[in-house]
Amino acid sequence: ESDTAMYRAKSAGRNQIAFFEGAMQAEVEQRLTLERDLSRALDLCELRMVMQAQVDQDGTPVGAELLMRWTKTNGEFVSPAVFIPLAEESGLILKLGDWVLHQACEIVNQLRTHGWMFPVSVNVSPKQFRQQDFVEKVRDILAAHHLSGEEFVFEVTEGLFINDMQETIARMNALAALGIRFSIDDFGTGYSSLFYLKRLPLYELKIDKSFVQDIPGDANDTAIVRLILSMAKHLGLRVVAEGVETPEQAAYLTENACDCMQGFLFSRPASFQDWLVKQGSAP
Ligand code: C2E
Ligand code: MG
Ligand code: MG
Ligand code: MG
Repeated sequence: ESDTAMYRAKSAGRNQIAFFEGAMQAEVEQRLTLERDLSRALDLCELRMVMQAQVDQDGTPVGAELLMRWTKTNGEFVSPAVFIPLAEESGLILKLGDWVLHQACEIVNQLRTHGWMFPVSVNVSPKQFRQQDFVEKVRDILAAHHLSGEEFVFEVTEGLFINDMQETIARMNALAALGIRFSIDDFGTGYSSLFYLKRLPLYELKIDKSFVQDIPGDANDTAIVRLILSMAKHLGLRVVAEGVETPEQAAYLTENACDCMQGFLFSRPASFQDWLVKQGSAP
């Protein structure tokens, strides 16, 4: 009798292992397919850049963030939250990152044609930043488009400051010498120390949307937001609050002297053409 029970248990165990192996294999295959598709996405013209306004307290655009979008030829939309980490892990981000920089230059030139003079924010991933020739690459791309680095803000995440601090600082300084300004994206969500804040050539902090989402109701989040605002003020840094969706959030941020806001409340990420339709030429 107990033999039968043991046999049943063993066989159930084997089935379960088979089930997990199957599920894992399906996941691995899915990932490989996505990676293969992403490696062809540029050549197939499946990628495009959209931009989202950053507005001052009057609602006037004072900046814009460029965000990548991937719609496969078969119509399937893949979120950057899915394909950016994949691109980062596979190394494809290097090729995509170059393309983004060229696109950013073209967009800046178009904005200038229509009278918009604010700097454009570009997300730069850690692997992209750590390329040995990144500074030369940026310099060459800027030169090819007859632009100065002053037209750009590079958004980097705290993850960049965990390793190779000396090299990171040196590279940031070299880019800053080209006029490029730096913003810390998703500020407060990383694991790095505050120590770097005084050692890096920084221009801006972006308060992560996870802190913005529950203000003014949540006491912890309001405390964090106010702390970031006051710290930034003392350090002479500009602050952008990201993910602002409600008038209540905007009112709270304005009352607490947040310079700049970005979120669905003001505008959704849109193509440059749609931007022009919505915002028109600069006033
Ligand atoms: P991120 O740089 O923190 O970008 C902000 C994200 O918040 C964007 O998501 C944007 O669409 C979204 N967002 C803006 N306003 C609101 C709002 O009011 N509510 C909510 N819930 N979300 C809002 P998206 O476009 O899906 O991008 C996700 C992440 O992918 C970005 O986060 C960035 O880390 C990465 N990413 C996107 N484009 C690029 C790129 O060109 N290069 C690199 N390296 N990373 C990129
Ligand atoms: Mg960003
Ligand atoms: Mg962000
Ligand atoms: Mg974020």
